[in-house]
Amino acid sequence: MGSPSRWKIGEQIVLREVWRRKVWSARPLTVVQDQEDLVVLFMPKGAKWKAPVTLGGEELRLPRAKWRLVDAWHPHDSLVLVRPGADHSVRLHWSSDRREFFEWYINLEMPHKRAPLGFDSMDQALDIVVSPDLTEWHWKDEDEFEEAQALGLISEDRAQELRAEGERVIEHLMARKQPFNQGWESWRPDPEWAVPELPEGWDILHEPGRNQQ
Ligand code: MG
Repeated sequence: MGSPSRWKIGEQIVLREVWRRKVWSARPLTVVQDQEDLVVLFMPKGAKWKAPVTLGGEELRLPRAKWRLVDAWHPHDSLVLVRPGADHSVRLHWSSDRREFFEWYINLEMPHKRAPLGFDSMDQALDIVVSPDLTEWHWKDEDEFEEAQALGLISEDRAQELRAEGERVIEHLMARKQPFNQGWESWRPDPEWAVPELPEGWDILHEPGRNQQ
């Protein structure tokens, strides 16, 4: 089974995080667009995904201990905008009643790789939260980012790259460049779409080694 070159609008795929050849999380999403310069994915409120916890069942924010996956439910509607090859995605979050667009969210992460059932990536701890009108922003989870470096999960060089990537995105949003000038904040999902579910085989790593991060 090979990875398709492009997903179709409305198809359900899985976005996984993979750490050292083990699935760290898996989220079902619906494809909004899959183009060379921008992939857009939708995760609605109520979508059931797989979240990591310690073997004892406690919350785990970084892969610093052995983990297992448990069911979790996505709290609000989210769009994920991915520029292929980039060390970040730009996300949009709507309130849980689906009426109010309340923030842009820059997630620093490993570039998305195409996988047989969707895409694989891995969170890189640092984030940026941006006001809906793009006038205010702040770094988020800097303590977790420091901890990831202290634990050797993110190298010092990689941390500098990620900080620089975040700074580039901030320049883009302040200049209202893509994807911040494309009207995504007024996008609405097709009401015919069902809440996406994880496809069979979401937990299989098809190409050992390739997913190692
Ligand atoms: Mg993050």
